[in-house]
Amino acid sequence: MGDRVAVELTAFGEDLQVGHRPASAPQPGAVTVDVTHAGVCGTDMHLQQGRMEIPLPMILGHEAVGRISALGNEVTTDVLGAPLQPGDAVSWASNIPCHECFHCTSDEPSLCETRKVYGINQSSGVWPHLSGGWAEQIYLQPGSTIVKIPEGVGPEQVIALGCAGPTAVHAMGIGGPRPGDVVIVQGSGPVGLACAMLATLAGAVKVIIVGGPAGRLDAARAAGIGDVHVDIFTESDSVDRAAKVRAETPDGRGADLVIEATGVPAAVAEGIDLTRRGGTYLVVGQYTDHGTTPINPHHITKKQLRVLGSWAFSPRNHLDYVLSVPELARRFDLEKLVTTYPLTDAGRALADMRGGTVLKPVLLPGQVSSS
Ligand SMILES: [Zn+2]
Ligand SMILES: [Zn+2]
Repeated sequence: MGDRVAVELTAFGEDLQVGHRPASAPQPGAVTVDVTHAGVCGTDMHLQQGRMEIPLPMILGHEAVGRISALGNEVTTDVLGAPLQPGDAVSWASNIPCHECFHCTSDEPSLCETRKVYGINQSSGVWPHLSGGWAEQIYLQPGSTIVKIPEGVGPEQVIALGCAGPTAVHAMGIGGPRPGDVVIVQGSGPVGLACAMLATLAGAVKVIIVGGPAGRLDAARAAGIGDVHVDIFTESDSVDRAAKVRAETPDGRGADLVIEATGVPAAVAEGIDLTRRGGTYLVVGQYTDHGTTPINPHHITKKQLRVLGSWAFSPRNHLDYVLSVPELARRFDLEKLVTTYPLTDAGRALADMRGGTVLKPVLLPGQVSSS
């Protein structure tokens, strides 16, 4: 089978290592995929810095698309029943829930605490080794949810929203807008932009994006995402900024729905402030623990807010995201969000993401010479 080039995190806070890991033929129920595009996500930045407890070594990358290399026995179709063959372009859910715990059996598998997640809790130190997206090949274990990339869209369009797309689909299921709503999105990273796009598709009449830096807002505008864009770096006073944003809502009363996608605890008090009386505040972006923040809970009662949280996504959300890509691609210029790098430049991609100079770094394993 030979070895495949893979990018591994071997020690927290250290540079990524480019090396090789052995490929294996797929066992019954498994599938091997030659990765064509692997996304770099904000979570990867946190993983590299050791903000979440994960086993090492790890081939990072929990969002990727590729072409089927080989199918194990028992695998003949994708999750929708379409026949699968080597060479088919596919996407797959990054996680495999256990299907047995309280949360899985209560129909909220995104909360499963023992689910397997490629690139996050499947160490490359143990077989089948190729368990993350930042490699020439990935070994998809039995139970993976695989879907063919829909006709008419390309892998770059699917990976443009990587895990942000399914994360936003899940969040919209928990507290999405009603047609006619005015929506504020706090944060202009991939999750914020994915939420903004899905809010528009769901019938929001106005989507106001409050984020930054300027390059990210420019990319959002260029892709047709959001109706109003407020830069938190030029509007750096939070009181003035909130007044300016509220002035964009009907009668200045605040938005029907405010979606938090910043990962910054201090954004929550501002988000509560921007939500109208009787409105909904949906907290999606606090994926890693950055500590506590002052809020005034009186405002939650007085404004009679619905305050909701949304954690990660299920394989079903991933499928729904992939099926929505043709409509997203018709409405928005998804490729404008993507900046590509050779696989072996993963460290540079991660640094650029940390610097906020790119919105969605995507690694191209096809751009390394196979050994
Ligand atoms: Zn992610
Ligand atoms: Zn479970």
